[in-house]
Amino acid sequence: MSTIFTKIVNGEIPSYKIGENEKCYAFLDINPVAKGHTLVIPKVEVDYIFDLNDDTFAELMLFARKVAKSIEKTVPCNRIGVAVLGLEVPHAHIHLVPIQSEADLSFSRPKLKLPPNEMETIAQKIRKNFLS
Ligand code: 5GP
Repeated sequence: MSTIFTKIVNGEIPSYKIGENEKCYAFLDINPVAKGHTLVIPKVEVDYIFDLNDDTFAELMLFARKVAKSIEKTVPCNRIGVAVLGLEVPHAHIHLVPIQSEADLSFSRPKLKLPPNEMETIAQKIRKNFLS
């Protein structure tokens, strides 16, 4: 059975998409810890990020940098925090979170509840910077 993230890549489940290339896909986290919180995943279904082969791992990192730069241009922040947890979804992913301070990268704080129109607006703005 496919993971929920594979279903997102295949369009079987909707996502607030930021961008993709041949091997990777980026979309907003549905329960963000900050506005612009984005997940970057390899299209290949591998649970643990450090089990990816060298090419895919390198591609994912380069793709994540491009996505991070577009979040940075869109959401006011000090920098983009990077986290890998993988405790919930067994499909490798990198969290990219716009942060002002260390506390903003806390995953134990209550998540934001943003309405769909706001999620779509954020995604559209990041997507535009991703493509430019
Ligand atoms: P982790 O596996 O890194 O511990 O957490 C998984 C992350 O994926 C969580 O931040 C959660 O909000 C996000 N997530 C889980 N299911 C979905 C989904 O169906 N769509 C999106 N966009 N994000 C999801």
